[in-house]
Amino acid sequence: MIRILEKEVADKIAAGEVVDRPLSIVKELVENSIDAGASAITVEIKKGGKAYIRVTDNGCGIEADQVETAFLRHATSKISQAKDLETIETLGFRGEALASIAAVSRTEIITKTANAPAGVRLAVEGSRPAEKEMTGCPNGTTVVVRDLFYNTPARQKFMKSDASESSLIIEFISQIALAYANVKIRLVNNGSLLFTTPGKGDRYQNILTVYSREIGDELIPVQGQQGNLSLEGYISGPGLSHATRKHQIFFINGRVVNSKILQKGISQAYSDKLFEGRFPAAYLFLQAAPQTLDVNIHPNKREVRFDNEAIVTEFVRQILRQALLSKESIPAVTEKD
Ligand code: ADP
Ligand code: MG
Repeated sequence: MIRILEKEVADKIAAGEVVDRPLSIVKELVENSIDAGASAITVEIKKGGKAYIRVTDNGCGIEADQVETAFLRHATSKISQAKDLETIETLGFRGEALASIAAVSRTEIITKTANAPAGVRLAVEGSRPAEKEMTGCPNGTTVVVRDLFYNTPARQKFMKSDASESSLIIEFISQIALAYANVKIRLVNNGSLLFTTPGKGDRYQNILTVYSREIGDELIPVQGQQGNLSLEGYISGPGLSHATRKHQIFFINGRVVNSKILQKGISQAYSDKLFEGRFPAAYLFLQAAPQTLDVNIHPNKREVRFDNEAIVTEFVRQILRQALLSKESIPAVTEKD
């Protein structure tokens, strides 16, 4: 007997791909806030995000009569046809996050558009809209996610300790704070404020706000442009290196990504400057024409693929090399870690 699964079951299965731990929820919610044009975002977590995640923004909000729709699978305001996939400029586009989150937690959304006289609050539990009411609230959106995986025990077991789950979230929000230096980002963990970025667009300042203890002020600015590629950011001189790539953070078209291509460009640029197994810090922001890369490789969107990888590696190598040579005379050697 072949049967089509009930919506609730199908949603739970699909949710597993998008939402595998508290970090993925925080990531999806923060990306929604950025897509909504927010200039201020507050992220609050408790117990590593397992018990409580709240993301508040001052973005465009959702119309009261659209709130339920936002929780349906493949419901998105960001693309409307297949060809839009070739030129994605928003962080979201799959229309899966809210549906997935709501399938595996107790979720609540409070939202108001600038034109609406009042806001609306909708509670959703295990994919089912539970309560809806009008409410007074500022313009923007707040999403609260409680009791993650309360209805999927297998997933619950897979989560690590509160401390490890929260450190993944803190790492991600730190990265996002660099990528979106013009957005004021506040991070609160178990009731204590970890940082607030000024939101004034100064990336260097944000690197210092977020990473000062590890990095200090040894960073060299990099900048370059070639064809449709442009690169900006900061790298450490050969005098400051780490035992891991933890301080190599990459953004491609505003997305925090893992990129072997950029890692390779860095390694080549430093090849005669650092010993094997030592890695410089690098905060690199690469922009490329959307049609030259594919961001739709994995539901978590942490991977991108370029049409021509060799060109990108070589471009990065050259720009970094120039920056390093211009700072040839850095004397002191400090090995961290
Ligand atoms: P996607 O981001 O891929 O479109 P989501 O499930 O994350 O899918 O969100 C569904 C829709 O809900 C979005 O397309 C957007 O219209 C709306 N939405 C979600 N979060 C916010 C937010 N913080 N502010 C405004 N609109 C939002
Ligand atoms: Mg989204």
